[in-house]
Amino acid sequence: MLNSAITQAPASWELEFDWHLTNRCNFLCEYCHPQIRHVLNKKHLTEPAPELVVQRFDDIGKTCLVLMSGGEPFMYPGFVDLCVGLTRKHYISINTNLTSDDVEEFSRRVPPDRVAKIVAAVHMPERELRGLELDTYARNYSFLRNAGFDVVSLYVLYPPLLGRLGDDLATLKELGVDHVRAKVFKGVYEGVRYPEGYTDEQKAVIVANSGEYTFNRPYMDGMLSFKGQACTAGVQSFKIMVTGEVRRCASVATSYGNFYDGTFVPSTANDLCPARRVLVLSQCLSYLVEPPEVPADADDDDD
Ligand code: SF4
Repeated sequence: MLNSAITQAPASWELEFDWHLTNRCNFLCEYCHPQIRHVLNKKHLTEPAPELVVQRFDDIGKTCLVLMSGGEPFMYPGFVDLCVGLTRKHYISINTNLTSDDVEEFSRRVPPDRVAKIVAAVHMPERELRGLELDTYARNYSFLRNAGFDVVSLYVLYPPLLGRLGDDLATLKELGVDHVRAKVFKGVYEGVRYPEGYTDEQKAVIVANSGEYTFNRPYMDGMLSFKGQACTAGVQSFKIMVTGEVRRCASVATSYGNFYDGTFVPSTANDLCPARRVLVLSQCLSYLVEPPEVPADADDDDD
């Protein structure tokens, strides 16, 4: 049985896809992955129609979980129709900044029991830059929660934000945001590579404020390679790039054809992991044949 990287539990679905569905975004976060930030709103803006994508997933003949991230998924043309179509036979999960006016329509048309998780990123600097009120975010959050969706707020622990982290989390709590996870920044800031680069003092702040996110410790402790270990990624789980190319996972570029043009063929046998450094730890800890012990039991849904 597949262990889900979204729920960190045995899954009700047979295959799991991590789909970068669009390069459109109304934010331009400083800490966005550089390879994504560089192409946002510039390249590959001709997404396939929702009907085609739904058909491709149905053609697989197995129940799938489709994690959608970008960019901002709600900016995918026809996003709510896409979600309605996918949830007829499959499950979905969404990483969003929750700014879209379509959130209400989504909550009316998409069945909550087919949505494994909605991760709603706060991205305070971008929100402030664009005059977007946090109480609007909180309203959308409560709206989804009250409609029965499993929604959790996400705060990225970018080093320059650590000084305001406590105040921001307190504000979210006051606004009724009851599930929060704060997760480590992955990248380079002022010449220091993170997540290994946090100081001991910063690590203490992070551990104290991680909320429901329990992968910060293994990230900061340097659990960043499983090279040579057998992994089910490529057989039961996949990464779909914005071009439709299907890869083994977020960290390994082995290709299994193109999802959009119907040439996707999964591998039939588990292979050894070739990655020297992993990008999304939750995928490895779910998909490895023999994952290491991690003192945690919460969810993860990395970007
Ligand atoms: S261990 Fe992680 S990086 Fe390696 S193949 Fe599996 S999911 Fe990918």
